[in-house]
Formats: sequence, C-alpha cells, structure tokens
Amino acid sequence: MKHIDTARFCKDGTSLLGTFTEVDLARLAAEVLPNTGFSVAWTVTGESPDLMDLTLKGMVQMKCQRCLGAMAELIDASYRFQFVKDEATAQAQDEAQDEVDTLVHSREFDMQELIEDEMLMALPFVSLHETCPEAGATAFLPIEAKTNPFLILKNFKNMA
Ligand SMILES: [Zn+2]
Repeated sequence: MKHIDTARFCKDGTSLLGTFTEVDLARLAAEVLPNTGFSVAWTVTGESPDLMDLTLKGMVQMKCQRCLGAMAELIDASYRFQFVKDEATAQAQDEAQDEVDTLVHSREFDMQELIEDEMLMALPFVSLHETCPEAGATAFLPIEAKTNPFLILKNFKNMA
C-alpha cells in the first residue's frame, strides 16, 4: 500500500495497517542515529465524510545531546485529518481550526509520504537521556540520595 484514492477510502470506511522500516523511510532514517534499524507500525482508517484517522507507533534510536550515546525514542501518536477538494479550501480550513489537519483529496494520495512526514514531526527537537548511562553507577541512585545521606538511610529502611 502506497497510494490511496482518498475520497473512496473515506466513503468506504476503509482500514489499513502495516509496518515501514528504515528501508521504506529514507528521510526518517537520515534523522536518526546512523545505521540503526527501526520499524513504524501504522493504521489508517477512513471515515465518512472525508475524515481519516492515523496512528503511529515506532521506536527509533536518537543521539543523546549530553553524552552522545544512543537513546531509544518511542513515538506513539494519533492524528485526525480532514480532506477537502482543493488547496484554497485547505488553507481557509487550517486557519479556522487547530484540532484537525486539512489535506487535499487525491486519487493517488501518497500515504507513505504522509506517515514519514508525521514521524519526522513527532521526533523530539533535542534528545536527552533522563540519566546518561556513561555518568557512572551513582547515576542510577535517586537524585535525592546523591545529595542527602539521610535519604539513603531511609531508602535502605524502606527496602528492608
Ligand atoms: Zn545521555
């Protein structure tokens, strides 16, 4: 599945699902950590009149901007689109409402391109580990425990 007839897709309430990998999504592959594979599971469902729901689930490896190590970034997003007949209507609609993204109907709508665009926009602007693994073993202690010895004692008591 790559191209769909959007008017028919919505009218029939068609549902499609699949998975794209780094081989399919070259633009996304260029944005993540080089030579790491990924897969993006997607579903699209048409809904009359002229609505389409898209959900994306995928895990990509990004470079942590603090330690420069690899970090997994989970993308789990859903979108709703409304198809309109032409570009002028799409622009007017987009200004009028924020909740629904507007797209122009097409007999050969490139679904793969839309999925890749949305994945690219879902990537975090800056990737940072919550706790960088290279910072050493102390990094795995709770933050309070590093500064307050009494809290460490308290935590030991709680564990016992
Ligand atoms: Zn890091």
